[in-house]
Amino acid sequence: MSAQATDHYELFIGGKESPGSGGERREVLNPATNRPIATTALARPEDARHAMEAAETAFRTSWWATDDGGKRARVLLKLAGSIETHAEEFARLETLNMGKTLRESRGDVAFIVRTLEYVAGLADKIQGETIPVPGPRFDYTLREPLGVTVHIAPWNYPLLLALRSVGPALAAGNAVVLKPASLTPLTALRCARAAKEAGVPDGIFNVVVGNGSEVGEALVTDLRCRSVSFTGSGEVGLRIAELAARRVIPSTLELGGKSPVVVFPDADLDRAAKGIGFGIFGNAGQMCWAGSRLIVARSIHDELLGKVRAVAEGLRLGPGTEENADMGPLVSPDQLDRVVGFVTEARDSGATVVTGGAKVAEGPLREGNFLAPTVIDQLAPSARVVRDEVFGPVLSVLSFDSPEEAVKLANDTRYGLFASVWTKDLATAHTVSRQLEAGMVTVNEAPATFPQTPFGGYKESGLGFEQGLHVVESYTRRKNVLVNLGSAKPKR
Ligand code: NAP
Ligand code: MG
Repeated sequence: MSAQATDHYELFIGGKESPGSGGERREVLNPATNRPIATTALARPEDARHAMEAAETAFRTSWWATDDGGKRARVLLKLAGSIETHAEEFARLETLNMGKTLRESRGDVAFIVRTLEYVAGLADKIQGETIPVPGPRFDYTLREPLGVTVHIAPWNYPLLLALRSVGPALAAGNAVVLKPASLTPLTALRCARAAKEAGVPDGIFNVVVGNGSEVGEALVTDLRCRSVSFTGSGEVGLRIAELAARRVIPSTLELGGKSPVVVFPDADLDRAAKGIGFGIFGNAGQMCWAGSRLIVARSIHDELLGKVRAVAEGLRLGPGTEENADMGPLVSPDQLDRVVGFVTEARDSGATVVTGGAKVAEGPLREGNFLAPTVIDQLAPSARVVRDEVFGPVLSVLSFDSPEEAVKLANDTRYGLFASVWTKDLATAHTVSRQLEAGMVTVNEAPATFPQTPFGGYKESGLGFEQGLHVVESYTRRKNVLVNLGSAKPKR
């Protein structure tokens, strides 16, 4: 299937397609051409409240929260199977809407399927404890779903990052309301239909599309909202944390990054160069955990930079829908302008743009938001392109003379999502991994993650974790039950 300009997607509330209370529609664009590919209904805050009400009702009245977890597991496995069966359709829709290459979208869809399978496997393993207490008493704990959980997703991995938290919340027996990013709502809306077909009861999985500042806030501030899972920018994350704190509800925040890639002189430089390229040019650099700061030993600086440059210049730019494209466009003209602004500022302040740095202004790609893979050298650690998240295919290079200096440079950031270390020396690998202030570290590997490995950040990169064995439990609350076993005066 390919989305046509005439395709229209409604909101998904209470198991039904809904045009929204105002009947408004919004165009969705293809970043490779900036032309419309579809329209969606546009929610108003009252539609957000409608979705919360539908979710609350379903949570209280359907079998989802109270029946056997194994039954939820079967439905989630069915959903995983349906997405797998329609993998190509989902991947194409994601690519058309977000711009990433088909290869990348297919990888995202495979990850989504694995995530659903993984959390389905945990749905019937939610259990409490028995706790020995004095006297003729019996004490135990229960794990209950939270109720209605809200999920707010960004545009860089539209369905993957949405389902990464929606999946475990559903596995735990919650009713969810998802708000995808305004730029990339299509796969979430398509998925909600698949969930209904798989047997998710009406109202347990709702999707509303609308402006974050209105519709997103209406969801978070709704009295029925019992937790918020947010993936996006630090600025909005802070706002969400404030709103959640005022309601005394938990929030999981997956925010930005400025991840260091530390390369020691003994590293396999060919492998490192490929890994570095994947880590910063993958998804056109629009990754929270992009390895955006290369921190390289001065003795191998020129050699490694030559190899990284060759990787960058060897990438074929093209619409994500073209099978041979290695890198797609940035998601929007605004995002392109922002990224080019960083490069211009660095160049103006005396840094060397080793390769790339300009919008593709000629040929068929000029219509889209294409930027050549960019490497910037001779930067001061204080440069804005070194300190701030660029969210584009732009690698900043810094050099070090000692391992201590490498770690200091790597940790000299307000973020702490991811870091990677390239060395053949076992002691260096493990010692530096411990010293790096990041929630995830890879050794001799580009950024890599699996549904079973925890994903989360230190410092301003976020709060809480997604993925991993404890993720389903994190969408439950604990209740302690103390039972008196009947003596007239139990001993204390
Ligand atoms: P964003 O601007 O923060 O938006 C994220 C989501 O929040 C969107 O759905 C947005 O809706 C919504 N939103 C905006 N303002 C809101 C408000 N006041 N209340 C409630 N919701 C609101 O982020 P983005 O530009 O889409 O994504 C890029 C950012 O995400 C980067 O900083 C990146 O590092 C981060 N990210 C982090 C991770 C991670 O796991 N740590 C993963 C991927 C991305 P609209 O679309 O309508 O504005
Ligand atoms: Mg935004």
